[in-house]
Amino acid sequence: MIDLSKFDSLVSLVSYFDTEERCKRVLKEQRWGKEVCCPICGSVHVYERGDGRFGCYDCNHTFSVTSGTIFENTKIPLRKWFMAMYLISSHKKGISSVQLSLDIKVTQKTAWFMLHKIRHLYGQTLEPLVGKVEMDEMYLGGKETNKDESKKVEGTQGRSTKTKTPIFGMVERDGEVKALTVPNTRQKTLMPIIKQYVYEHSEVFTDELSSYSKLVEHGYTHSIVRHHQKEYVVGDAYTNTIEGFWAQFRRMVYGIYHFVSKKYLQRYIDEEVYRWNTKEADAGVRFAYMFGMCTGTFDYGMVKRVA
Ligand SMILES: [Zn+2]
Repeated sequence: MIDLSKFDSLVSLVSYFDTEERCKRVLKEQRWGKEVCCPICGSVHVYERGDGRFGCYDCNHTFSVTSGTIFENTKIPLRKWFMAMYLISSHKKGISSVQLSLDIKVTQKTAWFMLHKIRHLYGQTLEPLVGKVEMDEMYLGGKETNKDESKKVEGTQGRSTKTKTPIFGMVERDGEVKALTVPNTRQKTLMPIIKQYVYEHSEVFTDELSSYSKLVEHGYTHSIVRHHQKEYVVGDAYTNTIEGFWAQFRRMVYGIYHFVSKKYLQRYIDEEVYRWNTKEADAGVRFAYMFGMCTGTFDYGMVKRVA
């Protein structure tokens, strides 16, 4: 089986994947190994037909190597998909649909579609964080300062959720980040999330938001960073790591995408989380992860082992 992480540049990728046949062969190999498996019923009693499709003896369905993947039912050549995946995983700040359309010669609409399909693959792991964990909230939404005076909504600066969506983030120092949109940042909302995603007895660092006041009761060690007293770094008590993640996320949203709708916000967050969690890996390794996600064979543990 070919080692996808060996592609250290777009040139090496493009020259290897020179035909659709080659792309299909590698996709098949990565997806099923030696034993083709029916995506409908899971049976391995499968035969290859003359037209390149497969038939299943057990459920009688026919399928192709792209069935059940993001490549299914698109007229976009696999070569362009692979190039797009490479570009997305190697651009550390993300890539716009305009740029992608120019790079791989598709319409901007197609590039937008591809980006969304690929973004849909990024899932966050359920494995809880442990050790020293920083938590923080951020708000993303319409830039009030750029709006007409008449359109400004009263009380929307800062922590209001009228036009902004709150995002809650947790990061293990020197480790993984998790971030998700939340309806609000009240204790009732945040505590169940914290209990799900952070192991008990972890050492938690937050700002002075009252929603965090019961952390100790729930079995965590809790240090508070008091931002309003200009007390940013006191010994170990800082939240600079999670703030670094927010800064990177803001740069991606405002610098590359300019605007993201509330509907798709979690997907953009997932993209940035993925980027953060694989930041130590090189372009080829990232591409291999992404390929694994497309074929459903992605093992997130790979990131930690390689990085
Ligand atoms: Zn079947």
